[in-house]
Amino acid sequence: MRKVHIVGNWKMNQSLADINAFSETIRTMNDLKCEAWIAPQAIHLNILQEKSNTIKVGAQNCSNQNSGAFTGELSPESLKDMGAHFVIIGHSERRAIFKEDDILLNQKVLKALENKLKVILCVGETLEERESGDFKSILKGQLLNGLKDISASDKESIIIAYEPVWAIGTGKVASPEQAQEVHAFLREELKAVEALDAQATPILYGGSVKPSNIEGLLENTDIDGALVGGASLKGESFKELCELSK
Ligand code: PEP
Repeated sequence: MRKVHIVGNWKMNQSLADINAFSETIRTMNDLKCEAWIAPQAIHLNILQEKSNTIKVGAQNCSNQNSGAFTGELSPESLKDMGAHFVIIGHSERRAIFKEDDILLNQKVLKALENKLKVILCVGETLEERESGDFKSILKGQLLNGLKDISASDKESIIIAYEPVWAIGTGKVASPEQAQEVHAFLREELKAVEALDAQATPILYGGSVKPSNIEGLLENTDIDGALVGGASLKGESFKELCELSK
């Protein structure tokens, strides 16, 4: 059985005071049935980990290189050394703002896996792509190109996040039926990746998830958790999301 994952993506948010308040609130999360993960800004990885031992911490991005003359980049090897458990790769903001393409993202995936980081590979279509009708071939390309050349030993380190771009930070959540339909499609496509067990690979939904809609999403067979932006910033709502996820 796939374990439910609730993963908070804090983006470039949260002051130290916010982190203290968040940690105080989630300190009381006990007997969680789900995996509770947070990706803070990388400079806050250790402080969040020290204060919040009920969660695992990870990064929002990493380089496709371990070291060298790459000013400003985040080494996956150093992230691992500093206690990161996972890394998010291919978030739509990285694809759109920083122009990261499937080739670069695949290199990042492979380098993160080499460093024993779990990888959350994000895929998602824009509203324009959805309305063009053939958005599933775009998702298939992002998925299969991103996972190219992974090995069977990485089987348990891959998580997919389906994040329709039109639902991120907009308050427009995909309906549980819309999300389930795409998740089932992605799981079917994952069968082409020999290194993976498609049935066992968690597929998370992301896009305006909050405590009021998480249960409806998780009722679907192919939705194994959520990647959450806004609603992961406050300890109360992150805690509620985790407690509602069984
Ligand atoms: C995200 O940033 O990945 C995200 C899903 O954001 P939000 O939950 O705020 O829509």
